Amino acid sequence: MFKNELYIYGKEDVIVPAHLNFGKYMLDKFRRHQEGMALENAVTGETLTYKELTRYAVSLYISLIRLGVKKGDIVAVGCEKRIDFIPTVLAIIFTGATYTPYDVYSGRAVLKHKLSITYPKYFILSNKFWDTHKDILQSFDCIKTFISLDEGLSDAVPVKDLITDRVDITKFEPVEVVGQTDTAFILYSSRTTGMPKGVELTHLNCILNSAQDEFKDESLQTAFVCGVWYHNYDTFMTYKFLAAGRKVVYAVDFSEENVLMGMDKCQINIGMLSPSFVSYLSKREDLEKYNFNSIKIIYSRSGPLHATTIENFKKRFPDIKVLQGYGMTEAGELTSESWATKETKAGSVGKPSPCIVLKIADLETRKTLGPKQPGEICVKGPILMKGYIGIDSSSYLDEEGFLKTGDLGYYDDDEYFYIIDRIKEIINYKGCKIAPLELETILMSHPDVCDAAVVGKPIPDCGEVPAAFIMKQQSSNITETDLINYVASEVSPLMQLRGGVRFIDKIPRNPRGKILRRRLREMLNDEDN
Ligand code: AMP
Repeated sequence: MFKNELYIYGKEDVIVPAHLNFGKYMLDKFRRHQEGMALENAVTGETLTYKELTRYAVSLYISLIRLGVKKGDIVAVGCEKRIDFIPTVLAIIFTGATYTPYDVYSGRAVLKHKLSITYPKYFILSNKFWDTHKDILQSFDCIKTFISLDEGLSDAVPVKDLITDRVDITKFEPVEVVGQTDTAFILYSSRTTGMPKGVELTHLNCILNSAQDEFKDESLQTAFVCGVWYHNYDTFMTYKFLAAGRKVVYAVDFSEENVLMGMDKCQINIGMLSPSFVSYLSKREDLEKYNFNSIKIIYSRSGPLHATTIENFKKRFPDIKVLQGYGMTEAGELTSESWATKETKAGSVGKPSPCIVLKIADLETRKTLGPKQPGEICVKGPILMKGYIGIDSSSYLDEEGFLKTGDLGYYDDDEYFYIIDRIKEIINYKGCKIAPLELETILMSHPDVCDAAVVGKPIPDCGEVPAAFIMKQQSSNITETDLINYVASEVSPLMQLRGGVRFIDKIPRNPRGKILRRRLREMLNDEDN
């Protein structure tokens, strides 16, 4: 391979099978771990071994084929996190059809928008999904067949009638696919501008997403995947762990108590958490009643993990390693920190993942920059999505075929990457560029602050000034002036909190822990009206 000296390359040692079939890839892995435990519901204790998981998936596959599901069809799954979720997805993938998930807690407009991008023909769903979204589903006549995971849904074929123990899983082979081009998954990009986009991932993309194992170690057998199975992070972390024969523990309702209880009860070795949960763990007062001795790694991705949060966390749990990754639906895990790496750098999101090429582009000239120079992070490699459905995806690529991530960042002399912020979140005050993340990191380092978010407040003639929203510790008497002075003592004069501080009960975040900045901006707008 010819290398460009301004690009930063991940390792090139990922082994991909020649068939490039994601279903076959997972099936072959599962066949190695038959009696091992694959999935466990942390709250109910419900489990599936690899053999049971495989049997369920193959059995449902046979029935889906009988119902007419074929390559090229889109099969939707709409349900909460549950033990039959993963085998259901695999059954769809085995048929050569494309799988797409819909969130049971989705807002009405977003659900309608997603349905009108993908037009599924088959819909596998729970009663809860049906009860919540019945009228919308009935208005989409592209859906020919409903298949129900629960009982009592009159217009749907019950899955119970489709599953049998009498399947021979030893000789089973999934339908053949063209792995480079056939779409296996359609996930949705959470880019906050406009409505979500449908991201088409090929079988090859899915294999690469599941093949990279940054936690290679026999002692790491049980992982808690905290989030939702319709987001790329939790989805592919789950497949990655299952491909490695580990046990994946989950909670349907991943409330704080359920996650803490689950990590204790199920003797978790790796906790896949959101940054806000790591922050919560670093500050919550009464954690003594939980036993976290089995935990070796806490891994965080999908949003910024502040260096101060890591510091606070390490003070409480010095034996637990905190690792951070950086990724996106369109390109999987862009960077990660490996468990095997002796030294990690706090605040860094690690080095480029295997099969990934990264570069930093100057925001104005688009020239490729060297170390310690901030610019837009751009990514290329075989893990890059096939494209967005119905959108000319080339507008998201630059002239060298790199996807523009929209994230501002840089790398250091050792090729460790750092995220400064989303480019569009940067606050422009009299020409000075202020990253909300930097101010949030400082605010989070204050012992009285539980959670913090900063957004730009438009001011005539100056551009924007940073305004902070703060969730303070229950017992705290801290005031706006205290926090403004605290930040002022840490930053240059131009970066001070000129937009003031508002104390609120909870920082609005999406289920993956990302700050819902639009909502905060609306709150600022309301103040002015
Ligand atoms: P999604 O497609 O929902 O996974 O969102 C991808 C976006 O999440 C990225 O483009 C980043 O803006 C953000 N993101 C992911 N990981 C991190 C991280 N470790 N630090 C900061 N932002 C992150």
